[in-house]
Amino acid sequence: MKKYLPSWHDDEVSALSELAAGFFEREVVAHNEKWDAQHRIDREVWLKAGELGLLCCSIPEEYGGGGGTFAHDLAVFEAQGYAGDLALGISVHSGIVPHYIAEYGTEEQKKTWLPGMATGEILTAIGMTEPGAGSDLKAIKTTAIRDGDDYIVNGSKTFITNGASADMIVLVVKTDPKAGAKGVSLLIVDLRDCQGFVVGRVLDKVGQHGADTSELSFTDVRVPVSNLLGDAEGQGFGQLMAQLVQERLIIGAQASGAMNRAVQETIAYTKSRQAFGHSLFEFQNTAFELAECQTIARTCEVFLDHCIQSHLRGELDPSEAAMVKYWLTEQQCAVIDRCVQLYGGYGYMREYLIARMYEDARVQKIYAGANEVMKGIIAKSL
Ligand SMILES: Cc1cc2nc3c(=O)[nH]c(=O)nc-3n(C[C@H](O)[C@H](O)[C@H](O)COP(=O)(O)OP(=O)(O)OC[C@H]3O[C@@H](n4cnc5c(N)ncnc54)[C@H](O)[C@@H]3O)c2cc1C
Repeated sequence: MKKYLPSWHDDEVSALSELAAGFFEREVVAHNEKWDAQHRIDREVWLKAGELGLLCCSIPEEYGGGGGTFAHDLAVFEAQGYAGDLALGISVHSGIVPHYIAEYGTEEQKKTWLPGMATGEILTAIGMTEPGAGSDLKAIKTTAIRDGDDYIVNGSKTFITNGASADMIVLVVKTDPKAGAKGVSLLIVDLRDCQGFVVGRVLDKVGQHGADTSELSFTDVRVPVSNLLGDAEGQGFGQLMAQLVQERLIIGAQASGAMNRAVQETIAYTKSRQAFGHSLFEFQNTAFELAECQTIARTCEVFLDHCIQSHLRGELDPSEAAMVKYWLTEQQCAVIDRCVQLYGGYGYMREYLIARMYEDARVQKIYAGANEVMKGIIAKSL
């Protein structure tokens, strides 16, 4: 079957996509047992990603980035989905955090952080979620109280991607604990030699075993006031809402890549395995299941294409961004589940890519805004 050529894939984006595909196969998938065992991917891999120009693709060149558009970043995340392994926290480090710095940072903050992020020498995380507050972000309890030229930060975060390995975190805090959403601010916290900062458990998850997903705590951590993102306190909630649109496209691109790979793998597998004197693919049920899965994957690609084009024109509606995150992740999980069924018992064995893709997919419906939250956003626009 002919591949769909999305309109956001110009020649340059397609070339980057191929480069990224090779990188994920060579550096991530090929060593997945090692990454799984240590719940972390070595810094060397990040440095290789930096060398290849796969990090901070849409950050201006003057700050060390690739100088491309967000389509360049998305090509990397789509390739990650297609590789069938979501363990490298590249979407957070390269697709999310640099955009907070580039969009809201001072010239000094941009020069301090972005070049090292683009090479992979500085690894980053974003800390929103807390043990008592996930979807309801304005209920966070971490505080940053002004004391002279510093903030004193106290609180804890959980489920933080790259948390145990990060050199820097964009931390969501309350600078005014009584002001609800208006008291939320974003602080850049340098985690290197950071007094009062402790990494808790590196969490054991259902999938994405190679990913570092960690608990973090902050006790009387001093952060210079100059590390605030934005020109005044209380802008954090708005900054988060504005950036979450891109995060939803990232998840959509990963989901689309993953669905296409799952279908391709399953076609190949069912054509190669024999039962009852013919290939599995020759069961009409198997062929029809794959026909349906391929149709779902294709329609998702077309909707993603529409949303990415809208975003590149600066016109993507937050409700459509919510649709792409909600719908594509639901389809990713459903398609991969159907593919596992067509494999039989081998589909449940982690030595097969499809089994690992099944594990990795589940959380896509939960993080970056639970799908129920996405439906709430869509419903509000009706
Ligand atoms: C592997 C992994 C990586 C993550 N990485 C990061 C990270 O890097 N940084 C970070 O800050 N966070 C991260 N998270 C946290 C993630 O964003 C949260 O888990 C998610 O936002 C949901 O929050 P919660 O887990 O507290 O669930 P809750 O907020 O307790 O929600 C539980 C469930 O309640 C329902 N629900 C909640 N709100 C609504 C609503 N408004 N309407 C209807 N139903 C609702 C949904 O079914 C939801 O799944 C990560 C999580 C995981 C699992």
